[in-house]
Amino acid sequence: MLTDRFGRIHDYLRISVTDNCNFRCNYCMPEECHSFMKQAQLMTSEEIEALAKIFVKHGVRKIRLTGGEPLVRKDFDEILQRLSVLGVELLITTNGSLVHRHIEALKKAGVTSVNVSLDSLKGNTFEHITKRNAFEQVWSNILLLLENDFRVKINAVAIRGSIEHELVDFIELTRNKPLHVRFIEFMPFTGNSWHKNKVITAQELLANVQEQYDIIKLKDEPHATASKYKAIGFEGTFAFITTMSKQFCGECNRLRLTAEGKIKNCLFGKDELDLLSALRNGDGIEELIFKSVQLKHAAMGNQFEKGYQLTNVNHVINRSMVSIGG
Ligand code: SAM
Ligand code: SF4
Repeated sequence: MLTDRFGRIHDYLRISVTDNCNFRCNYCMPEECHSFMKQAQLMTSEEIEALAKIFVKHGVRKIRLTGGEPLVRKDFDEILQRLSVLGVELLITTNGSLVHRHIEALKKAGVTSVNVSLDSLKGNTFEHITKRNAFEQVWSNILLLLENDFRVKINAVAIRGSIEHELVDFIELTRNKPLHVRFIEFMPFTGNSWHKNKVITAQELLANVQEQYDIIKLKDEPHATASKYKAIGFEGTFAFITTMSKQFCGECNRLRLTAEGKIKNCLFGKDELDLLSALRNGDGIEELIFKSVQLKHAAMGNQFEKGYQLTNVNHVINRSMVSIGG
């Protein structure tokens, strides 16, 4: 078991398979010219499998593939297939644009739930955020996933000045479709022009929704980062991920592996240990994993004040979100 100094058991691994992406979301990718990792730096599919096996040996029961955009990797289906035999729950977070090319591979690998990022339901706003004219493709792939009986969660980053205009439209998505919309509070990462004034909290959004709908609170799953609700009579649900306004670190069961094989024990942590070099050099990997788990801080990588408004993000040492793997 990967148990840390605070008694938290880590049974969930998020693997970034690439830091490359076919979108350029302004809250994720640094504004200045961003260079992606070179092919040789990335874990190969065999290396991903080899490292994943070690985590599974020590109690990991759930693996999420992310990126960058995981589906831009040419050997994505092979990675899926390799991980599908490890006996873990296999999940993926994607921008949705390439899902139609991988739907059979996802089914074959036993993936049953897919998180799709979608920050706007309007083509022009979508293009403004992602710098790509791809709304129709993403939407048709969301429908394709539903037709193929996948559980579909939609991740929308809530940025003040933007999400308010479409809040009702997102809730309406859940009226007649089994869609699960999650509003994620805007988080600071290297190069994403975060400012505390751009954060719109879950409490604010919830109050807004309550003015227009009768809603009920649903029971949250163990270790859930999302606080779930439902508009009465609607088929789907909506939820808030309150990383900024109400931290959920006490329940954290996650570890991360970056695309170049570094273990990160926290989304906001600065400690990284290089598992891929150890694997390539024939050095001990388990020791590094245990060390990383022991280094994990109680909350927010020990880099944030209690209130996000008090944190000077210029002092936070981290990476861009696209190179961590969200
Ligand atoms: N490309 C895939 C996608 O967009 O879903 C996977 C990688 S992306 C980094 C993973 C998730 O992180 C997405 O849902 C995205 O919206 C979220 N994300 C990225 N930057 C964020 C930020 N600054 N604040 C909150 N969520 C963010
Ligand atoms: Fe790419 Fe996802 Fe980041 Fe958008 S949020 S730039 S789709 S990795």
